[in-house]
Formats: sequence, structure tokens, C-alpha cells
Amino acid sequence: MPRDPRFDILFEPVKIGPVLAKNRFYQVPHCNGMGHAKPHSHAAMRGIKAEGGWAVVSTEEVEIHPSSDVAPYIEGRLWDDRDLPALALMTAAVHEHGALAAIELVHSGMNSTNLYSREVSIAPSHVATPANYIPAQARAMDKSDIRAYRRWHRAAALRARRAGFDIVYVYAGHGLSLAMHFLQTRNNRRTDEYGGSLTNRVRLLRELIEDTKEAVGAECAVAVRIAVDELLGDGGIECGGEAREVIGLLAEMPDLWDVNVSDWAHDSMTSRFAAEGYQEDFVRFVKSVTTKPVVGVGRFTSPDAMVSQIRRGVLDFIGAARPSIADPFLPNKVAAGDLDDIRECIGCNVCVSGDFTSTPIRCTQNPTMGEEWRRGWHPEAIPPRTGDDAFLVVGAGPSGLECARLLGRRGYTVHVAEAAPLLGGRVTLESSLPGLAAWARVRDYRLNQINKMQNVQIYRGSSVTVAQILEFGARRVVLATGARWRRDGVGRANTRAIAGFDGTAVFTPEDIMAGRLPPAPVIVFDDDHYYLGAVLAEKLRAAGLAVTLVTPAARVSAWTVNTLEQFAIQKRLLDLGIDILMNRNIVDFDGGSVTAACVFTGRRQALATASVVTVTARAPNEQLAEALAAAAGDVQAAGIISVNSIGDCLAPGTIAAAVYAGHRYAREFDFPQSDLPGFRRELPG
Ligand code: ADP
Ligand code: SF4
Repeated sequence: MPRDPRFDILFEPVKIGPVLAKNRFYQVPHCNGMGHAKPHSHAAMRGIKAEGGWAVVSTEEVEIHPSSDVAPYIEGRLWDDRDLPALALMTAAVHEHGALAAIELVHSGMNSTNLYSREVSIAPSHVATPANYIPAQARAMDKSDIRAYRRWHRAAALRARRAGFDIVYVYAGHGLSLAMHFLQTRNNRRTDEYGGSLTNRVRLLRELIEDTKEAVGAECAVAVRIAVDELLGDGGIECGGEAREVIGLLAEMPDLWDVNVSDWAHDSMTSRFAAEGYQEDFVRFVKSVTTKPVVGVGRFTSPDAMVSQIRRGVLDFIGAARPSIADPFLPNKVAAGDLDDIRECIGCNVCVSGDFTSTPIRCTQNPTMGEEWRRGWHPEAIPPRTGDDAFLVVGAGPSGLECARLLGRRGYTVHVAEAAPLLGGRVTLESSLPGLAAWARVRDYRLNQINKMQNVQIYRGSSVTVAQILEFGARRVVLATGARWRRDGVGRANTRAIAGFDGTAVFTPEDIMAGRLPPAPVIVFDDDHYYLGAVLAEKLRAAGLAVTLVTPAARVSAWTVNTLEQFAIQKRLLDLGIDILMNRNIVDFDGGSVTAACVFTGRRQALATASVVTVTARAPNEQLAEALAAAAGDVQAAGIISVNSIGDCLAPGTIAAAVYAGHRYAREFDFPQSDLPGFRRELPG
């Protein structure tokens, strides 16, 4: 399909100082859990973005000195010349596809952990290290420290140019860099010419821009990434206050302004808390104070929203981290007019969890993310089929749909049987919950693709039995039958059923998602610790019920620290008037009250409640797998050569894991079995 002319504006080239971006699609810096530790993986991932049409592809933050070590987090590293080959892998991969490579130089200052380097952290003033409650303090920099810092930054810029970068960043964003710490009155209590007045606090940033321009500005564009609002009111930098003045003071100095809100949790808000384009109100002033091009973000997945940002003079470049992760080929798809092929980010921040867990990035929508080098997976290219086997996929949840989509793309004949009248499994159920509507994109993208294929058929309302599978005639059977929430309370804190949880006043998440309303007051017992317990509490509260959330963890939705949501979730529950009781396990329920036990002391207390919603663990729907295993002779006689379980019916996990399992099966079912790792590793030396 030819490109709609209304999107032409997105494909205009834009000059950034001495370099030219071929279009307005700009992959802003984003972490990935691979960084300096897995340079081939990192380079291949960035190269795919360039191949997919992004005009600029950036690194994550890149440490410029050992005193900026952020271990155990894995970012980029440019401490000395020995780091050049790893970064040159990336610039080569990006240049191969005609894109510009950008590097975000950072000194993390007081946010440096220095757990690896064992250097002392530095800051504008003496300050306790904020990262992970590390028992350390950063020391106040003296003038020689400031000179040294400028020297390190300059040296890193020169090295970046040698590594082949086209754009070099001075970073003052997210509260994560020294240049920003100097701007913040709460962290800069200096009395010399680097503290006090705004002109003084901005001095270091100005000097860094000058140094970088002087060092590499003839060949490389110099970009500034800066936080325009910390969402702290007058306790922080505000877009209506000092941010405007800072950018006004430096307006024409850099070649590009990359602007967003701070901290990272505010910048990368999930779809549960913010809609597409949510940063516009904060960043729109920037273009009125500078003539330099401006890039901003806002989880943009809709080309119309992107065009609107450009036409209304909000941004010059459409910045994207997550939309480029979910679909590295987004620009090419817009260019080709293939809008309904865009794999839209759902705003879940599973990608962010790779950074927090120091493991390769993963994505709910794009299972190839992070696997480009080690498994050789490409988000668009897929090897054709190697045989004529027909497939029966049982279950049309995220795992079954991804499996069917990819087998179909490979050219296989695929039949999908789904028991329910609606497709999508758990994503269809969960996307009806408060704030999770965008999750339906996991289903919609896949169905849309499948609907274009003649060789994939879906049968709804078809609850498949063993006899039907044997009769069906497919050579390969894939079971993607999902899981159901346990009713008995077994989970992490309780490995045996909770006494009284077999009563009628105990509800599972499926009960609530089916529209059943428990009698109030209700206790939501969250021993799952991801999003669902809190989301259900929110839903029940919205229905007017008195709700208490009880959890054995020390925080609500404890795992969501890894998706940047934990603070926002707990705040929302408190704002809604939901009572929260942490560090408590539920040990029994008599229909009128539960007994909650302190996880430390075991001390017990009775909590009156009319009902309990139990969110603990899920039981795989493995009955079909077990029955087929028991009928192995019949299976063989029916000509079935393989039966495999994938996704939640094998081991319940995240939606991302289910999609990944479906994808992996479709790519690799015909690989020889091996006890060796099925992927390449980046080994030291
Ligand atoms: P996953 O996350 O692994 O994809 P889901 O629970 O989201 O798992 O989806 C599993 C799907 O499988 C559900 O839509 C469910 O209705 C369907 N299913 C379960 N058992 C059968 C069966 N015997 N026949 C057909 N569909 C089934
Ligand atoms: Fe978007 Fe979720 Fe993928 Fe991140 S993991 S890019 S938020 S779909």
C-alpha cells in the first residue's frame, strides 16, 4: 500500500548541526540490560532499529569514568580506549542502514553506586547515595574535581567520535546525572560560582556543552538531554519555572534539545497511568525558546499523533524508546503504508525490568527484542517452513496466537481451536480491568496478522477434547491452554491450602473479571506481587466496596519496582481510600473474618471481612497434556508426531513469557534437540 501523503512530513530530513537525519523518527537513549557486558547483543539490537527506518539510533547512558559506575546495572561504558571496539560494533551496525548513531555520555554523580570500581562518588554537595539505600555518601566536588569531570567528559566525547558516533549527548535528565544535580537546588548547596543563583547552577552544563562542541562539534552534533519538569511542584525543576530559564539561557548552544520529564518513572509512565502523548504539556514551551530541533517522547505509536506533534510545532523529531522496542520497524511500516502491521507498545514496562534485573531486555509485544544476536531472531524476517506438517494449536491466548501467527508466517497450515467465544485468553480478560485497556493490543496485533493469512484458521467456541485431537489429522499439536488462578490460597507465603478458602465467600480473579461482585467489606489477598492484586482492589473500590489489600510483602505490587510503577500503584490505592496491610500473611478465613499473621513475629490479628479475593498463584491447565501423554499409543497411531505445551499451561508467567514461548516454539520446533545452550553467549576474553 502506498504511503498516505499526510505522513510525508514524518519523512522529511532534518539537519542536526553538522549531520543530517534522514527522517523524523528518533530512537532516544534507552537501557537494555546488555550494554557494555553484551556488546554484540547490544549492537545487533540497535542495528535492527536502524534497519527498521529510525533516522537516529542512540545508546543508553554511557558511563564516562570509573567514578560513575552504576553496577549492578549494566549500561554503556566509555572509561578508556579499550571500550571503543564494543561501541564501534554498534556504530557500524547503525551506519550499515544509513542511520545516525548517538551516544549519551553520563556521569551519574551521587547516583553512581561504584560497587564495582570502589571509587568515591561525587556530587555538587555532600549527599547520601540515593541508589538502593547503599550505605555510602557522595562527597562534595571541589574546583579540581569540576575540572577533572570536564576533562573526563571531553575525553569521552573525543573517544565517542573515534568510535564513529554522529551525535554526542550532554545529559542532564532523569535526576541521574551530575549536570542535572548541579541544577537542582536540593542537591546543590554550593556557595561558589557553581551554586546559588540559576546562572551559577547552570554554569557546569554550559561548560560541558562548550567543551563538547569544541572537542567534536565540527563533525558531531552535540545534543542536550534535559529534564523540563520533575513533577515535584516547586520542590523541583518545573517547566513553568527554572526549566524555561535554563533552556532560554542555553537556547542556541547545542544542536538539538532532547526534552522530557523526570525522574525515569515519570518519563516512562505505563499505559495504566498515562496516555499516548502525555508529555506534551510539559515540553511544548521548548520550541518557543530555541530555534534548534527538539525531540520529545510520549509512547507514540499512532502516526497521526506523531504528525500532529510536528504540525502543531510541539516537536521536530518523534522520540521513541518503547515504541521502537515493540516495533523496531515502525518507521518503515509507516513509510510503506502498512499501518495495521505496526506492533504497538502496550505500555507495560516489562522492557524496563531487564535493566532492573541486569538481564537482556525483553518486550511483551516483540519477543525478538534482546534475541537479535544470541538467537539470530529478526522481528520481521522469519525462515520459511521446512516441511508440510499441519499444526493444531489449542488455545488462543497470547501464547497460542503468537505461535499460530509465526507458524503461519513460515507458511505452515495452522488450525487454532479456542474454547471461549472471545479470543485472546488472559489479555482479553485483563484488558477490561482499570487502566489495562492497551493490553488488548497483544491480541489485536496477532489477530490482525492472522486474518491476513489464508493458511491459518481459527475456530472459536471449540473446547477441544483428546478424541477430537486424535481425529483432527494435524501432525503436530501445540497446547496453549493457559492457567487459572488458584482458589485455595497456595502461593509463595502458603504452600498448603488456607483453611476456609474452600468457602463460597472466596473469589478468584477470574470471578471478578467475569463480573461477580463479592460482598463487602472485601479483603484482596495479594501473594502474587505483580499488578493484578492491586488492579482488582482498584476495580472493587471503584464499584463502591470497602477494600483492604493484605500482602505478605513490604510493598504493594512489590515486583513493579522493576516496571517503574510501584510508587504510583501504592499511591493510587491510598488515594482511592483502599486500606493496605503489609507484611501480613493470611492463615485462615471463617466466613466472617480472616486471621492475618505478621511475617516477622507470627503475631496474629483478626480482620473482619465478608469476602476474600485471593491472588496468589495459578494452576496450569494441563489436563489435556496429561490425557494425551496417557494416550501415547493412540496419539502415535493418529499420525501425531509431536505434542508440546507452551506458555501458561506449561508454567504460568508473564504475558511476555507466554508470547515468547509461542514465538520460540514456532521458530525452533524443528531444531535438533540438544543439551547445550540454544543461544550464543558473550564470554569474557
Ligand atoms: P497463555 O498466556 O499461555 O496464552 P491464556 O490463559 O491467556 O494462556 O490462554 C489460554 C486459552 O486457551 C484460553 O483462551 C482458554 O479458553 C483456551 N483453552 C483452554 N483449554 C482449552 C481447550 N481444551 N480447547 C480449546 N481452548 C482451550
Ligand atoms: Fe512496550 Fe511493554 Fe514492549 Fe516495553 S515491554 S516496549 S512497554 S510492550
